[in-house]
Amino acid sequence: MSSFGFIGLGNMGAPMAANLVKSGERDALHTVLGFDVVPASRQASAQDGVRIVANARASVSDADIVITMLPGGEHVMSVWQDVLPVAKQGALFIDCSTIDVASARAAHALAAEHGIAALDAPVSGGVGGAKAATLTFMVGGSTAAFARGKPVLERMGKRIVHCGAAGNGQVAKICNNMILGAAMIAVSEAFVLGEKLGLSHQALFDVASASSGQCWSLTSYCPVPGPVPTSPANHGYKPGFSAALMLKDLKLAREAAASVGANTALGAHAAEIYEHFAQDGHSAADFSAIINLVRGPSESG
Ligand code: NAD
Repeated sequence: MSSFGFIGLGNMGAPMAANLVKSGERDALHTVLGFDVVPASRQASAQDGVRIVANARASVSDADIVITMLPGGEHVMSVWQDVLPVAKQGALFIDCSTIDVASARAAHALAAEHGIAALDAPVSGGVGGAKAATLTFMVGGSTAAFARGKPVLERMGKRIVHCGAAGNGQVAKICNNMILGAAMIAVSEAFVLGEKLGLSHQALFDVASASSGQCWSLTSYCPVPGPVPTSPANHGYKPGFSAALMLKDLKLAREAAASVGANTALGAHAAEIYEHFAQDGHSAADFSAIINLVRGPSESG
């Protein structure tokens, strides 16, 4: 019998912890000891079978594997600083939050100071993927730590990719989302340009989805209603993946690019455009609603 500690039972952490519980019911292998600072989150996870404990330290002291799913780098650093001194020798810490690369690498170093193995393992797939246990995990850390963490992550996800040394999971995550943010704006610009020139959405979709303009933002997540019935555009731009989270990731990419002198002009411009969108009060909308900013106020309703 082994035990998992799970800290951060929010939109993503709660369904991930619930899937860990479910996978344990199948093989009777473990218990999940959970903690969140918000009482409502603790109550909701208790109903999913997570054994709620009094504080973060209590979720860690007996755990063989500790998972954190927290908002940002400062939260991860402060929680790890708090709990690492009481961690069991031989435990593995896995941070699944999306955080800045520098904090991710600092968290690995902190764990190493306590003799604890660590992985950074941010996810893509959103709340839907967390509920369905189909997340993709992008993992940074040693080969030995990855070998231990992979079977655990497989209980919550479908694709587990080792991206290299400490922090490289976060690097992969922000690089991917920088492509996504810029591509969604590019696809939105193409639909708006087509509209203004009298081209139907469906005609542009039929051509571009089978031509060199093809990309995920077009074929899986089309920002106009119609061509892809499951895309948020057909559901009032309810997220999905919120514009606030896209802006967060684009800012992390911009910060990381500045730290190494990388030229990411389009990524930086995408961050500015999403910043503008957030300032206009649309942070909670799906990120594909950026097409309304591209279209302009007169026609966005
Ligand atoms: P969330 O705000 O819903 O959850 C974070 C949880 O951490 C909250 O319940 C909060 O109360 C808890 N928390 C904060 N400080 C804590 C502390 N000191 N101790 C214990 N609990 C604490 O956020 P989320 O949507 O679940 O996202 C979590 C992470 O996953 C973020 O880094 C986010 O960028 C990333 N992410 C989110 C999505 C998504 O679609 N929501 C997708 C991919 C990645």
